[in-house]
Amino acid sequence: MTKKTGFVWQEIYMWHDTGTHSGVLPPGVPVQPGTHAENPETKRRFKNLLEVSGLYKQLHQIEAYAASEEDILQVHTADYMNQIKALSDEIGGDAGMLTPFGKGSFDIAKLAAGGVMAAIDAVLDGKVDNAYALVRPPGHHAEPDTGKGFCLFSNASIAAKYAQNERGVGKIAFIDWDVHHGNGAEKIFWNDPSVLTISIHQDRCFPPDSGDLTDNGEGAGAGYNINIPLPAGSGVGAYEAAYDRVVIPALYKFKPDLIIVPSGFDAGAHDPLGRMMMHSDGYRSLTEKLLKAADDLCSGRVVMCHEGGYNDATVPFFGLAVIETMSGIKTNTDDPFMALFEALGGQELQPHQDQTLKEAEKLLNNLRT
Ligand SMILES: [Zn+2]
Repeated sequence: MTKKTGFVWQEIYMWHDTGTHSGVLPPGVPVQPGTHAENPETKRRFKNLLEVSGLYKQLHQIEAYAASEEDILQVHTADYMNQIKALSDEIGGDAGMLTPFGKGSFDIAKLAAGGVMAAIDAVLDGKVDNAYALVRPPGHHAEPDTGKGFCLFSNASIAAKYAQNERGVGKIAFIDWDVHHGNGAEKIFWNDPSVLTISIHQDRCFPPDSGDLTDNGEGAGAGYNINIPLPAGSGVGAYEAAYDRVVIPALYKFKPDLIIVPSGFDAGAHDPLGRMMMHSDGYRSLTEKLLKAADDLCSGRVVMCHEGGYNDATVPFFGLAVIETMSGIKTNTDDPFMALFEALGGQELQPHQDQTLKEAEKLLNNLRT
C-alpha cells in the first residue's frame, strides 16, 4: 500500500557553514585542518539519490517556513538565542560545545526548525500521511541555553512545542535513532509527561556521560524518558530487538497522537562518528515497525527530521530505504553496500546487548497509562 509522503528540502540548508576543522576540532590542533565532519555532503547526496532513483518526484514537496523567535523561545533561553543571532549577523562563532557556525546561520537554523513545523502542518492537515524533513543544521544535541554537537536549536523540540501549543496535538513520542544520545529533547521534556522521549544510541558515545538507562525523567515526567544505550558494535539484531521489546511496547502504552523521529543515519556500518552496524534493510525493518504502531495508534502520523550521519557514500542508501518504506514505493535502486554490511560479524543480538535490553524492558513499568 502506498502512502503520501511529504518531503522538506531547501537548498539554503546546505549553506550553513561549519568552516575548516580537523574532524570535529577547530584549527589549532596539531594536524592539518580540512572539512568539518558535519558538512553538506551526506545530506545533499541523500537528496540526489532520491532524485536519481525517481522517488523524489513521487514525494509531496513541502515548503519550509522560518520558525519565529517566539517559537524558538518555547525551548531556548532568550540569552542563548540572542547570542546566536548577534554572532550570525557578524561572522559566526561557536554556539557551545563543538558547534561552529558561519554568517547567516541563524536564519538557516530558523528555516530548519520551521521545516519540521511545516512537515507537521502537512501531516496534521491531511495533505500527506507522513513526512521527512531533510533539514540542516541538525538539532537533537542543542539544549535550552547552549548549542552542542553541531546543533544550534532543537528543531524537533521546537516543532513539538508548536504542535502542542498552536496545533492542538496532545501527546507526542520522540523516537531518536541517531547513534548519539538525544540529550536535547531529554532535557527539554524531562518533567513533561505529555512528551515521551526515547533515545536508542551507542552507549556513552556523545555527549560524554549522557544517555544512561537510569535517566528516566523526573517529577510529573518520571518514567517518560527512556534511554536505550546499546553497546558499541551493535548490529541489526540488537536494534530490531530493542524496537520489539522496548520502543514499540512503550508506544502502545503511551498512545501518542504524533510520532517524531530525530533521524540520524550514523548508526549505519562504516560511519566515522559511530561504531554500530545498521544497514539499509535494518532501517527498512525499523521503519516498518514504527509505521505499523503509528497506524494503530495515531493514524500513521510520523514526522522524521534529519540529524546526523557522516558517511557520504552510505547515508544516501539508508535514507532512500527509509523513505521507500514510508511511501510504500520501491524504486529499482538497490543498496550496493548491503552484501558487505549484512556479512559483518555480530549482526545478530549478542548476550551483552541482550543484557542491556533486559534492563531497558524494566523501564516499561515506569510508564503510567
Ligand atoms: Zn549523531
